Amino acid sequence: MERHQYRVVITDCDHGSIGEEEEEFNRMRAELILAQVQKEEDVIRACKEADGIINQYSLLTRRVLENLPKCKVVSRYGVGVDSVDLRAATDLGMIVANVPDYCIDEVANQTISMILTLIRKTAFFDQKVKSGQWDFRLGIPIYRTRGKTLGLIGCGKIGLEVGKRMSSFGVKVITFDPYLDKVSGGIELKDFDTVLKESDFISIHCPLNDSTRHLIGEKEFRKMEKRPLLINTSRGPIVDEKALIQALREGFVSGAGLDVLEKEPPDSQNPLLKMENVILSPHISFYSVESISELKRRTAENVSDVLKGKWPRSVVNYEVRGKARASISI
Ligand code: NAD
Repeated sequence: MERHQYRVVITDCDHGSIGEEEEEFNRMRAELILAQVQKEEDVIRACKEADGIINQYSLLTRRVLENLPKCKVVSRYGVGVDSVDLRAATDLGMIVANVPDYCIDEVANQTISMILTLIRKTAFFDQKVKSGQWDFRLGIPIYRTRGKTLGLIGCGKIGLEVGKRMSSFGVKVITFDPYLDKVSGGIELKDFDTVLKESDFISIHCPLNDSTRHLIGEKEFRKMEKRPLLINTSRGPIVDEKALIQALREGFVSGAGLDVLEKEPPDSQNPLLKMENVILSPHISFYSVESISELKRRTAENVSDVLKGKWPRSVVNYEVRGKARASISI
């Protein structure tokens, strides 16, 4: 039997296959084990001899990490690394890596498709025609896209792509992003209130954290002078959902496209489910066949890079420099 130089363990994974990961580790003759474990004890047992770990949901607590003497790197499928105790990993010299940009196109396209679906009332007419109502007057007025203003709350990787794509529809794009001094793509930086006041469409692309939770609430809806469409493909709790429902009822916003909600899945009584000017999708923006394949390949590459002595493409805990268990030369 072939002796492997390294062992890599996938703690858990719900992607259905691990073809991309197998390809990566076959190339470097590392043994790859899919453990599918959740409980602390099981994770420790499965990963005890691992040189590298790939992780999805199972919690890599301090206790787990302290029991993995050989582990040099933890790579998380996706952007968030909440499943890993970062401080513990750093203390123990483990590099933690993620894949922050595997689905930018997908989320940008989902956002655009929601904006256009709401503007052209595509989902509304689809329902009407299928229920036997062939009458375009049911959905008027419909306004032209050209000449309108899109306001982006946050203009990082995804916001920028949304802005660039919408510019090609003749839309003026403005953004509120307190961490940027300038933005490319002809997008204008504005203060928060100006974006709320001047936008015909508002799309949210900032992260969820303590300062962005309920960033858009009753006070903000009342500042929206143009009765905009609101799109959220970022995280549900950035919008105060109760206030949004009220704003839709009172007409401060004229429609909403939501891929994310405060509670996912929503309760069956959630009024948003009954509103004709609201379109919903089940937190799917990240997904395409290609984005998942890229995610899996790059999650595996993070581990193989470290085992080959290289820094992976995206390190979460750079403080580990100087005390990393892996000898990194490149
Ligand atoms: P990014 O880090 O590149 O950009 C986020 C931007 O938000 C940054 O420019 C930052 O300066 C800005 N920002 C931070 N705090 C802000 C605030 N208080 N107000 C306004 N702007 C603020 O992230 P990204 O790759 O563009 O992703 C954006 C978000 O999209 C992620 O945080 C994630 O929540 C969400 N997302 C959702 C899905 C999905 O499937 N629905 C998939 C991927 C990402």
